[in-house]
Amino acid sequence: MTKKVVIIGGGIAGMEAASTLSRMNIDVLLIEKKQQLGGHVGEWDHLFPNFRNAREITRSLLYDLQDKHIKICTSTEITGISKKSGKFEVRTTQQQTFKADSILLSTGFDLFDARKKEEYGYGIYENVITSVDLEQKLKESNVLTMASGVIPKRIAMIHCVGSRDEKSGYFHCSKVCCITAVKQAIEVKQKLPHAEIFCFYMDLRMYGKKFEELYREAQEKWGIQFVRGRLSEAAENMDGSLQIKSEDTLSGRPLKMNVDLMVLMIGMVPSESTTFLGKMLGIHFSEDGFINHDDIHLENNLTNVPGIFTAGTVTSPMTITDTIADARSAALKIATYIS
Ligand SMILES: Cc1cc2nc3c(=O)[nH]c(=O)nc-3n(C[C@H](O)[C@H](O)[C@H](O)COP(=O)(O)OP(=O)(O)OC[C@H]3O[C@@H](n4cnc5c(N)ncnc54)[C@H](O)[C@@H]3O)c2cc1C
Ligand code: SF4
Repeated sequence: MTKKVVIIGGGIAGMEAASTLSRMNIDVLLIEKKQQLGGHVGEWDHLFPNFRNAREITRSLLYDLQDKHIKICTSTEITGISKKSGKFEVRTTQQQTFKADSILLSTGFDLFDARKKEEYGYGIYENVITSVDLEQKLKESNVLTMASGVIPKRIAMIHCVGSRDEKSGYFHCSKVCCITAVKQAIEVKQKLPHAEIFCFYMDLRMYGKKFEELYREAQEKWGIQFVRGRLSEAAENMDGSLQIKSEDTLSGRPLKMNVDLMVLMIGMVPSESTTFLGKMLGIHFSEDGFINHDDIHLENNLTNVPGIFTAGTVTSPMTITDTIADARSAALKIATYIS
């Protein structure tokens, strides 16, 4: 009999796991709460480390989903899951019930709500935006302006907003925001060659392939300046520009600067939806709020509940490359489990 897997979450992890399982002749039901598949990658414009158009990724993954073994339900959420005689029963908001031999959780991450970092003024000062707002602006327009329509001359990019921050309640590093800052700073410089760009960082985490090279290019070719220091606060001037205060921790001197635009590099945080599902299923979470793995080295797609697996950023921040690899690994683990 054909085995069935329900995948919850149709971001790139869920999509890649679905097509990998279908190639092994396993029936897959992919459930996505939004209208479209693709998850957060569907919101990005050009990707680090090589400025590839993000649509190429989602299009390629969508193409691979055209298979008789795959059924897709969008705009659908889970209302309940139970397990009887080794089989799962999944109920949805569309009043459907599906049986499954295994479940894959690929419900991804949420973005840190920058309003929680009140001292930075997001949602209060009009020239404070997030990296996600900037990505949207880069996607939609060839020009980047301040709220007034004026071209900004000085831009500050603030790293670690809602990550590595005791006050926000998140100690983990979001892994992708240092390199996203470098990528976005270059993109802004390409549009506004006369703008001065400053990246305020705690440490620079350029761990991935080609990340270090891009960071060097940002400094040497594009003149982007990196200042080691954590921003303490921002205040709005009469003309809408911002006065920011920090300490340059390399020179040990306090730093005060006026900028026209401030971009907050917001972190990846555990998704509320996963917490809800996890509690329903009795899944263990780590202290950081992401799903836990008992064996982080050898069994990093397994949860504590037999038959329930994970793929992608539902367990920790990851790049696209790592998410795709994790999804393939999860598919293999599931195939082994159900056979
Ligand atoms: C600002 C920013 C920029 C980035 N840029 C890059 C880049 O340039 N290059 C790169 O390699 N990586 C980048 N990343 C990382 C990349 O976004 C992630 O690797 C990728 O999104 C992870 O995919 P995922 O499927 O694990 O999660 P997600 O993208 O979060 O997808 C999860 C999916 O599950 C769905 N879902 C959630 N709960 C439920 C539920 N209960 N029922 C049904 N569906 C549900 C969601 O709607 C979503 O579609 C960036 C990240 C950030 C924050
Ligand atoms: S990747 Fe960089 S900006 Fe993001 S949390 Fe880690 S150190 Fe901070």
